Amino acid sequence: MKREKIIIAGAGLAGSLLASCLANKGYEIEVFERRPDMRKGKIEGGRSINLSLSNRGINALQKVNMAEQVLKEAIPMHGRMMHDVEGKLAYQAYGMSGQYINSVSRGGLNLKLIQLADTLPNVTLHFNHKVLDANFEDNTILIEGPNGESIAHTADAIIATDGAFSPIRLAMQKTNRFSYSQTYENYGYKELHIAPDANGDFKLEKNALHIWPRGDFMMIALPNPDGSFTCTLFLPYEGPESFEKLDTTEAVNAFFTQYFADSIPMIEDLEANFFKNPTASLVTVRCNPWVRGKMALLGDAAHAIVPFYGQGMNAAFEDVAVLDSLIDQMKGASWNEIFNAYQAERIPNAYAIADLALQNFVEMRDLVGKKEFLDFKRVEHTLCEKYPDLFKSQYELVTFSNVSYQTALKSGEKNAQFIHYILEHQFEEKLNEKDWVTQKINDFSISYT
Ligand code: FAD
Repeated sequence: MKREKIIIAGAGLAGSLLASCLANKGYEIEVFERRPDMRKGKIEGGRSINLSLSNRGINALQKVNMAEQVLKEAIPMHGRMMHDVEGKLAYQAYGMSGQYINSVSRGGLNLKLIQLADTLPNVTLHFNHKVLDANFEDNTILIEGPNGESIAHTADAIIATDGAFSPIRLAMQKTNRFSYSQTYENYGYKELHIAPDANGDFKLEKNALHIWPRGDFMMIALPNPDGSFTCTLFLPYEGPESFEKLDTTEAVNAFFTQYFADSIPMIEDLEANFFKNPTASLVTVRCNPWVRGKMALLGDAAHAIVPFYGQGMNAAFEDVAVLDSLIDQMKGASWNEIFNAYQAERIPNAYAIADLALQNFVEMRDLVGKKEFLDFKRVEHTLCEKYPDLFKSQYELVTFSNVSYQTALKSGEKNAQFIHYILEHQFEEKLNEKDWVTQKINDFSISYT
């Protein structure tokens, strides 16, 4: 019997994982990627050198037996290490002991996924092939090849994993009743680098995500396996403290001396790299539907989000896992039916993680150092520690569980009401009484399903 053919547009993180998942089901897979083959040159991962991988992403990698291999090279980050303006450090664990997020190399992970896909006989990878347009009437996509020729390709199903500025989504935008929003933050980000020390060791605590919270802006740093850290400065484009104002080496130096003094001796060629490295923007994309006929959007093509919950890739991988399971559950269904079930499950969750990611920016850049927030976290931590079966923090639900993002968003709001109630009425002593806590959890209708 002739195998069904699936085209995947884009061999980034989601597309390369999806290729192996679907190939393992026996489909004929053709992947078209705009960039050159990363196996043949310098690893070019695109944005952000490293990213944090957590539960949802790990679960999806398990579908292709890749999780263990990826985690072996990852660096566990057990909590946040806050740096105040004087360089004093304060630590907050992310969860209970044994719960941590993982710093992984974007380029390294993408490379591994491409290598895996290429071992499968029913996967064909085309690099230097750029998707230009899509036609939903005849189910074709127009692709420009390496010699500039444009050819229309078709398949039984086409999945767009071509990132935040997906040309397939752009074609959907021109169709009737396609809702779409694209919102830029007035913030840009710039990456800087902290090299290892003379012995090749980490200059900062290795197993933490470092944050320099400064109210309206912040810098973060994630560890790399070679002993270095990748720092990312998130700063408004315009305003009193902004990229616009940092237009001379003196201005950069004065800004870092005022706000990030402890990082200056560690950051490599600060002034030179500040001007050499690009300033990139932060966008949230929401759209509905994700499906037109036999074509569907997946990953950033469907839901680009700001990076402050470390969930964009994890959400994209969860899309892959959900689609993979639906294909198994809906044997005999058409691609349109499968894609409709997939979007019905994923769109509300994509909207929820987009909201959560925006909320977490305020927490990271502003709240983490404040007394009210630390009080909140203390009560939350006590509840999590004492009653792991009754109470889960929002961070735990998003990062360390498979509970839907929608549920995490809603129960996080109820958690917050409960914790504010405890703090306002000075009920912390009551946290020793299990019956009281159980009753209150019921009263506040807190549930995690
Ligand atoms: P992409 O990784 O963008 O891949 C899209 C692919 O499509 C690319 O290979 C691209 O070359 C290709 N392509 C584009 N256009 C075309 C075309 N016309 N034709 C053919 N191919 C095309 N997520 C996390 O989970 N944890 C984090 O810690 C985290 N940190 C982040 C930090 C920053 C600064 C940013 C910007 C994002 C971060 N993310 C993080 C989000 C994460 O990077 C994305 O969610 C993830 O890359 C989405 O994967 P994707 O495959 O959908 O898109």
